[in-house]
Amino acid sequence: MSTSRESDLYDCIVIGAGVQGSFTAYSLSKRGQRTLLLEQFVLPHTRGSSHGQSRIIRKAYEQDFYTRMMEECYGLWAELEREGGVTLYRQTGLLVMGPEHSDSFTQMKSTLLQSEVPTVSLTPEDFSSHVPQMLLVPGDGAIVDVTAGVLYADRALRTAQDMFKKFGGVVRDQEKVVDITPGPVVTVTTSARSYRARSVVITAGPWANRLLAPTGLQLPLEVVKINVCYWKEKTPGTYNVKNRFPCFLLTEGEQGEDHIYGLPSNEYPGLVKICLHTGSPTDPDHRDRQTDRSDVDILSRFVSRCVPGLEPEPAIVESCMYTLTPDSHFVLDFHPRHRNIVIGAGFSGHGFKFGPLIGKILCELSLGEVPTHDLSPFRIRRFQGQTRSAL
Ligand SMILES: Cc1cc2nc3c(=O)[nH]c(=O)nc-3n(C[C@H](O)[C@H](O)[C@H](O)COP(=O)(O)OP(=O)(O)OC[C@H]3O[C@@H](n4cnc5c(N)ncnc54)[C@H](O)[C@@H]3O)c2cc1C
Repeated sequence: MSTSRESDLYDCIVIGAGVQGSFTAYSLSKRGQRTLLLEQFVLPHTRGSSHGQSRIIRKAYEQDFYTRMMEECYGLWAELEREGGVTLYRQTGLLVMGPEHSDSFTQMKSTLLQSEVPTVSLTPEDFSSHVPQMLLVPGDGAIVDVTAGVLYADRALRTAQDMFKKFGGVVRDQEKVVDITPGPVVTVTTSARSYRARSVVITAGPWANRLLAPTGLQLPLEVVKINVCYWKEKTPGTYNVKNRFPCFLLTEGEQGEDHIYGLPSNEYPGLVKICLHTGSPTDPDHRDRQTDRSDVDILSRFVSRCVPGLEPEPAIVESCMYTLTPDSHFVLDFHPRHRNIVIGAGFSGHGFKFGPLIGKILCELSLGEVPTHDLSPFRIRRFQGQTRSAL
């Protein structure tokens, strides 16, 4: 292994080239910081949380702080589209459904209305003329977040990495970080060599705690495997954007149907992505050993009851991972003992849409600036008693 040289002193090293690391690196290099982005696998890859062609973008949230963050984030997505000369977002609307008087549905609806997000409220009588492809469960309410849509995820990741390189950033893939030595200058050792930097940002997704171990910190994170299910249309073309089929989200349902979401047919012609927002615990290095499919059974029952134009057995099942915090809110903070190590972790299955803003915030933290958003929901101290020293 070669030793580090002066020329290897970076302003910042970002560890992990998923959506959050790629956007952090992009923000840093755009601001003139000499930045290295390290990735353990050959890019692009499908072993983390950011792969695949589509993600939902929405302002519909129970917590208004997320809705406020998304107000800025839409602008940042548009900026990247202009810079890269690409289309990354397609507006489809998001149909939010759930028991009309449940906490989750009423909270999401009230955040949308109070934040003055453009919406359309659907009565049970209106529903079938607006969304003829689905059936509304009796007692459920329905409201559409008009601003929502689909992000072209793979393309977004590629564009962020391309722009990072264009601004002078360096990407080294197939270099696994095996050690981090904190200090005024941090030493990062990979499977190939050592690098030094004034600051480090850890955006390692499901591997976050592995990376944090040498720094003496363990966060209360749980990694789960998600079965990404695609369902075949009985009549091709029914569930696509041309037929005005929106993204949808069921906040609560019968028999474990909480937080089921779906997107219009996109990556595979004639197939519609519908998933359950939960999975079974897994080791990120052995993701495929987790073979639990109880979520697929729940989805099959939902599809046959509420999405009658689809075959009730998935045609394709792919894999992805969530890294969950106990409250499902992100971790965006300094390392408690080393202020020049910044952590972006625990995106709990809903972080993609925030990518450009997370990148901006982690960049601000690594530069020691006051972040442009209130980070109190995302601080590590909220886990008091749940963090562990790994030393
Ligand atoms: C099925 C599914 C559907 C989703 N749908 C949505 C949605 O509709 N809308 C939404 O907003 N969000 C959605 N999400 C969530 C979103 O995709 C994630 O929150 C986001 O991708 C997390 O990104 P990340 O950069 O934190 O992690 P990752 O993408 O996992 O990136 C971490 C990277 O770090 C690298 N790494 C780890 N350890 C090392 C090491 N030692 N050395 C070097 N590199 C290392 C990994 O290889 C990986 O590339 C979904 C997620 C899944 C799984």
